[in-house]
Amino acid sequence: MKINLAKSAGFCFGVRKAITKALETAKTRKLVFMLGDIVHNEKVVESIRNAGIKKIRRLTSGAGKTLLIRAHGSSKHTLQQAKNLGWQVIDATCPMVKEIHGIARSLENNGDQIIIIGDKQHDEVRGIIGQLKTKALVIDKLQSIPLAKIKKIKKAGIIIQSTQNLDNALAILEILRKYIPKIDFHNTICNPTRIKQNEVKIMPKKNSVMIIIGSKTSANTKRIYEISKSLNKNSYWVNSAQEIKKTWLKNDKNVGITAGASTPESSIQEVIQKLKNI
Ligand code: SF4
Repeated sequence: MKINLAKSAGFCFGVRKAITKALETAKTRKLVFMLGDIVHNEKVVESIRNAGIKKIRRLTSGAGKTLLIRAHGSSKHTLQQAKNLGWQVIDATCPMVKEIHGIARSLENNGDQIIIIGDKQHDEVRGIIGQLKTKALVIDKLQSIPLAKIKKIKKAGIIIQSTQNLDNALAILEILRKYIPKIDFHNTICNPTRIKQNEVKIMPKKNSVMIIIGSKTSANTKRIYEISKSLNKNSYWVNSAQEIKKTWLKNDKNVGITAGASTPESSIQEVIQKLKNI
């Protein structure tokens, strides 16, 4: 059996940077907190917890405390609230997400209705919405385009959540173009996501089995899995090596492996070891 590992498997630079910043902060400060998990991966979350960083749900008095902003970023309101409550803020927002914030604000300043192609519930999308004075429209799939609202828009600025599937986003854009006379579109899918998606459009055709590693809570892993599954039905999404079943690998010569942007190297190596043992 030949094991083919995607070049882009695992941490993207934004996640790597956020984790490094979190661990460095934990070494030099005592009371460090985060609003939610640093990234969507249980192993990474555990290592952050073990470093002494605590998760909180909302902000209370911040005297003597440090708030770490996660890779997904946060709203302007949260940042202001933290400062007002006396928190020291360390910002680990991915630079790519910050760039999207800037684009969204500048489109809004041009008088555009902001449309975000992405998942309404995702922290990154909430953070983008939270940069704006006006209400953004969020569309996640073709079937949920609010046509009645769309038909009333004369001028729109459209951006995409950094980890969305480009093909899905472009299909939505095509429909929006039919109804909105003026559109300023920015493809804000980040580079690491583009590279991962491009690789996973090729690998499932060259390997008889595909293993995609990442947490079931990771949206970018889900999208990689969906692309892989659409090209090769022998695609499996696992969070750890223990989930791999021997029956998946019957008589297979080539196994492709890739992993989401928040999947640590240790999870990838464990899967490789398990495949070698099989
Ligand atoms: S997936 Fe992209 S936007 Fe998200 S943290 Fe990684 S590099 Fe940044």
